[in-house]
Amino acid sequence: TKRGEDGSSSILHGKYELGRLLGHGTFAKVYHARELQSGGSVAMKVVGKEKVVKVGMTEQIKREIAVMKMVKHPHIVELHEVMASKSKIYFAMELVRGGELFAKISKGRLREDVARAYFQQLISAVDFCHSRGVYHRDLKPENLLVDENGNLKVTDFGLSAFAEHLRQDGLLHTTCGTPAYVAPEVIGKKGYDGSKADLWSCGVILYVLLAGFLPFQDDNIMVMYRKIYRGDFKCPPWFSPEARRLVTKLLDPNPNTRIPTSKVMDSSWFKKSVPTTLVPK
Ligand code: ADP
Ligand code: MG
Repeated sequence: TKRGEDGSSSILHGKYELGRLLGHGTFAKVYHARELQSGGSVAMKVVGKEKVVKVGMTEQIKREIAVMKMVKHPHIVELHEVMASKSKIYFAMELVRGGELFAKISKGRLREDVARAYFQQLISAVDFCHSRGVYHRDLKPENLLVDENGNLKVTDFGLSAFAEHLRQDGLLHTTCGTPAYVAPEVIGKKGYDGSKADLWSCGVILYVLLAGFLPFQDDNIMVMYRKIYRGDFKCPPWFSPEARRLVTKLLDPNPNTRIPTSKVMDSSWFKKSVPTTLVPK
């Protein structure tokens, strides 16, 4: 398996033709690929083994594969197959053509009913994961993709955890995620409930969709962490009272009083109607 430095396409495992780069994150590059036999398109996530080993993520990659095979859901990116070469691991995944939700927010905040449609889909995916004992731990708009019909798809289970990784105290202990989206109890090193931590991230995402900017932000990371610890944020004046109430219940710094998924789904803001067509702009 080789890929030209000039980006020219190459054939992978005699099966896929690699095309243009779709996106990248901390660990991976994701390319458009064509399955030669069917002519169908997939997204090919390519992870360098060397980098994985260097940062001690070998177990985590195995977990990512196991998790993605386990969580089949309309709002979760489907994993088709995993391949490996000497130096790389390849994930052939369902191609999501509309790009990251992140790109939509960078053009400005969303209408409240549009944000609701995305948020409902996010919560259904997250609730499904939690019911299977899977915690995502890196929910953020870069890891939420949107297809051509406006359907949201959660991806990147690269930092996820299983319920069986809970210690004796029934809590997870690995500090991970992306600072602006990370729950206060994850920063504090006393252990945390993975589902409550994911819900905090959903609260940050909801805020970002409605506001167009982050709830907790500072150039100095320690100042930002302090704001997260205190749940120190303000909703902009254009938030409806119902949205304000839900965001505030999700961004409760105390995980024990933070709103659970069932009550999120039961909240008045969540249950309001959504636009019938959600074709992305
Ligand atoms: P990392 O673990 O490095 O963050 P991700 O799995 O998040 O890798 O993929 C990096 C980026 O590639 C995503 O943010 C997105 O832009 C793009 N991408 C990932 N999966 C897909 C997919 N299935 N379809 C289309 N684009 C994707
Ligand atoms: Mg990512």
